[in-house]
Amino acid sequence: MSRVAFLVYAPEVQRRADNSFDGNGNFGACVIADALRRAGIETGFVTPESAHVDADVVLISLTSTYDIYALLRAVALRPEWKLGPRHFRVLAGGFGVQNPTAIREYVDYCAFGRAHEWVAEIVNSIAHDHTPKHPSLMDMREMNPVAMHQGALYPHEVNGNTEKFTGCPRPKCAFCHYTFARRYHAVKDCLAYEDGRYFQNTLSQTPEVTWNQLLTWPKKAGRIRVAIDGFSERLRYTYGKCISNQEIIAGIEQVGSHGGTTTLLVYNVVNFPGETEGDYNEFIATVGAAQPSGRVIFVVQSSPFRPSLLTPMQWEPASLTPDWSKRREQVILERRNLRVVHSFTLESAWRHLKSIIAERAIPEDDRAVQAILFSPKLRAGCAEGALALFARNFDLAQWIGERDINGSPPFPHLSSYVPLAGLRKMAHRLRRLRWAWTAESGQGSNQEMAAA
Ligand code: SF4
Repeated sequence: MSRVAFLVYAPEVQRRADNSFDGNGNFGACVIADALRRAGIETGFVTPESAHVDADVVLISLTSTYDIYALLRAVALRPEWKLGPRHFRVLAGGFGVQNPTAIREYVDYCAFGRAHEWVAEIVNSIAHDHTPKHPSLMDMREMNPVAMHQGALYPHEVNGNTEKFTGCPRPKCAFCHYTFARRYHAVKDCLAYEDGRYFQNTLSQTPEVTWNQLLTWPKKAGRIRVAIDGFSERLRYTYGKCISNQEIIAGIEQVGSHGGTTTLLVYNVVNFPGETEGDYNEFIATVGAAQPSGRVIFVVQSSPFRPSLLTPMQWEPASLTPDWSKRREQVILERRNLRVVHSFTLESAWRHLKSIIAERAIPEDDRAVQAILFSPKLRAGCAEGALALFARNFDLAQWIGERDINGSPPFPHLSSYVPLAGLRKMAHRLRRLRWAWTAESGQGSNQEMAAA
């Protein structure tokens, strides 16, 4: 049997001391390794430097779109990885495989979606120098159309964990790639967060709940993860999280009712199409109205909206301003019973732009991607300086601009279980709402918006 090995490469941002597959919780890669082992294929590890001597088939796990840059940084300057001289073959997969255009020179095949049921067949085929075929496998020489594979839950225990569900049980948020890329299904006794019980995040042991569940939170907790995904009612009701301002107040007061100090880590989306300073002001007024009896620390972890692939918002424009990274750790409100503060890990506009370029990349963007990776001037400056310099050399509108909904999706080779016609219908509705806000300066009831 050929030598099959996972590539170990440095991430863009080192978040953990132990960045091995076990240390960083890369459950997907561990599942693939387990599925291969059960099919009689043992896997090892190689580095970018050792791949050409130690492996015949290299497997690459991309866990986010930022791994596109991490991978290119690791291999793009190595002659043995170039398409002509490369004598090992490369198969990539994982959540970060959404648009692999930028890495097409360094990867032979990309698997889209859940691959544990068919990866052994593909690896065997590659190892025997055949050309593998699967509806969710892209041959990077052709960039053939592919469908995101859904697939069953992995039935075996891996590293002490058993997969209990995939996808999201909630109604779809319009901006969320995950829910449009992965159909929801769960084992019967799963503690899915839809049925009033709480899903325990096994990695961090911090409960992760919906805002609705916070309203009946029954006991003192140290830290709870939750999401609002929009500063104002109109943003939340339009883009998918139907949480009223009154419910935000009630949720803060409920977790605070058990005494002591509770930290809420609150995920949020900012810079939505049509968002204004008025939406932020509404948020400040809303949280300010909460009066918990214990102390609540409300940490706002905001991520800027990106037009994610496969979603009804994939044709929408992205806004790089405001740059929320400038508000890292900024205190919004400080009282004895309530502290509201921006998180210290807010993404810069430069990093935001890089992820959008990777997701909307076409072959003509190679020069821009090369500049991002290797331009000494871009790398020498701070995030703000790098963005300004990049904007002087490239027209950002080609990546962040609004697209024609009736035209191609940004990455037209990829489809999922929600038909394109359905995505377009949702996209038209959302855009009509946005135009209505602009015309009417944000007037109109939330019920009308939700029903439109
Ligand atoms: S953003 Fe919305 S759709 Fe996506 S996982 Fe969260 S709740 Fe589900």
